[in-house]
Amino acid sequence: MASLNSNSNGSLKEKLDFRTYTTSGDIDIPDKIIDQIIGQEEAVETVIKAAKQRRNVLLIGEPGIGKSMLAKGMAELLPPEELQDLLVYPNIEDLHNPLIGAMPAGEGKKVVMNYKIKAKSQEEKKNFFMVIIIGLILAIGFYLRRYLEAIIAAGIVLLVMMQMKPRSTIMVPKLLINNENKNTAPFVDATGSHAGALLGDVRHDPYQSGGLGTPAHDRVEAGMIHKANKGVLYIDEIGTMQMKTQQELLTAMQEKKYSITGQSETSSGAMVRSQAVPCDFVLVASGNLQVLKGMHIALRSRIRGYGYEVFMKDSMKDTPENRDKLVQFVAQEVKKDGRIPHFSREAVAEIIREAQRRAGKKDSLTLRLRDLGGLVRAAGDIAKGEHAESVTLEHVIGAKKLARTLEQQIADRYIVQRKKYSVFKSEGSEVGRVNGLAIIGDRSGILLPIAAEAAPAQSKDEGKIIATGKLGDIAKEAVQNVSALIKKNTGTDISNHDIHIQFLQAYDGVEGDSASVSIATAVVSALENVPVDQSVALTGSLSVRGDVMPVGGVTGKIEAAAEAGMKKVLIPYSNMDDVLIEERYKNKIEVIPVKNMSDVLEHALIGSGKASLVTKMKKITDMVPKGILQKP
Ligand code: ADP
Repeated sequence: MASLNSNSNGSLKEKLDFRTYTTSGDIDIPDKIIDQIIGQEEAVETVIKAAKQRRNVLLIGEPGIGKSMLAKGMAELLPPEELQDLLVYPNIEDLHNPLIGAMPAGEGKKVVMNYKIKAKSQEEKKNFFMVIIIGLILAIGFYLRRYLEAIIAAGIVLLVMMQMKPRSTIMVPKLLINNENKNTAPFVDATGSHAGALLGDVRHDPYQSGGLGTPAHDRVEAGMIHKANKGVLYIDEIGTMQMKTQQELLTAMQEKKYSITGQSETSSGAMVRSQAVPCDFVLVASGNLQVLKGMHIALRSRIRGYGYEVFMKDSMKDTPENRDKLVQFVAQEVKKDGRIPHFSREAVAEIIREAQRRAGKKDSLTLRLRDLGGLVRAAGDIAKGEHAESVTLEHVIGAKKLARTLEQQIADRYIVQRKKYSVFKSEGSEVGRVNGLAIIGDRSGILLPIAAEAAPAQSKDEGKIIATGKLGDIAKEAVQNVSALIKKNTGTDISNHDIHIQFLQAYDGVEGDSASVSIATAVVSALENVPVDQSVALTGSLSVRGDVMPVGGVTGKIEAAAEAGMKKVLIPYSNMDDVLIEERYKNKIEVIPVKNMSDVLEHALIGSGKASLVTKMKKITDMVPKGILQKP
């Protein structure tokens, strides 16, 4: 539990809850956002420290792991008693340079009110005066029986006095920032905002000359940096912000105050420049590692020098304590949604299982909790649709089918289409053709059919490896890796052959670095003319010595193979603990762990030439010192 602030009694109660709860509704949820953040203990600790010292923070990590939540949590930790109201006053000496006044929170509104009352009483006095004068003119005119002249004179006086109205009225200041009744420091999310919204702006006024327009001070608008005064300014994807804006942001951070001016040069607002407006905020910037590239160097060094940088986790260890945190997470998400029922124990267990699956590596639970929250809501919606009292295991399983990611949907459609046009086969045998597996998106498996063809070299000197498409380089490397093995094993010299490798209709965005074992298998099959069993799919990365090295995303790949109707799937031995496939696939497909290339050929090849090839290959791979890849 991120119960850094809760006392020992609190955490004892929470522990009891976790053991005895019937639904997630029985779990106590911490009040503070910082205590609701799951799995990011180091980041939480840093933010607590940074809040005490009012330091800036840079959070680096994947989307949906709690970066903005941390920034919000930090705002809650900052002292609210320092909050200020800001007013912008007209500057009688220089109307284009409005003045700024700061006062304790709640006072600003009163000041404006006082001005309004004064202005109103002045207005009333003026109206009273006008009525008297007009009355007098009319009375005298009527007395002298000069009716027409009296009416005309009264009309002229009325017009003149109306014209004088704007000048004679007291100018009311504008409440720029109102912190009345705020009991936490502000949290302002400035992600993706343009310069005007971020730094403040002065509106354009088409009537600015001639005294008819809105006074300059009234057109001044606070920026997010000003709204975040004494609080937190949060900017995600900071690297995508324009350099010039980042530079200005840095200036604001250094000075702790920043004048507001019209951001558009052609606008009349550009002529106005306010006195400097306080903007003493703490910056919490975030993004993924790439974002750092687009970040202003001086801004980054400012954060480094006057703050902390944190690299956030995308998974946590699978321990009983961390599972309890996921129970708390489910309870939190249900409460936050407010419309869905609570989860039964079995339903929570299924969410935890899904967290294991999504982590994609052994003994881990995912921390991509925004996505997992999506699953919680989808299951909740199904339960709600059925008017169920609580969310059950069946609802979660149903939601998993329903809430498939875009990538998963593409993969589904891909399988249907490719089957229709027989791009891949799931039965029979064929020379040089292998059902490889790849990943699209972050964890959706997809079938990657590979075809290899070997022909005597055209050129006298050396054969060529011809591989097309984005995956070409991987293919070439894979073939080079096996060439030594093949020569030793079979005496076949790859360099006497031209080898063509084709990825059959590979989908854009496919990650193919785990395809080297498949490519090698296709090449061996083509060279030696031994057919490949088409009901087998495979994944693995190949070393020069013929060892099969671990790859990512095995669970998604196995499920994709099962969906495509494969009977067996070969995966690296060292990935066996990462396999967390859904119940419904378990009887559909046999998962076979392989340690080296001879294991692969043993299971993937078929037909008469196989036995001698595998025996030869075994001799070589068995020579590889033991223990490199074996599990301890
Ligand atoms: P990021 O800023 O990293 O993209 P957010 O902080 O916006 O992610 O998270 C989105 C939502 O996902 C949160 O509102 C919360 O419901 C859930 N969430 C994400 N990470 C966590 C976490 N570490 N602990 C609890 N909930 C989380």
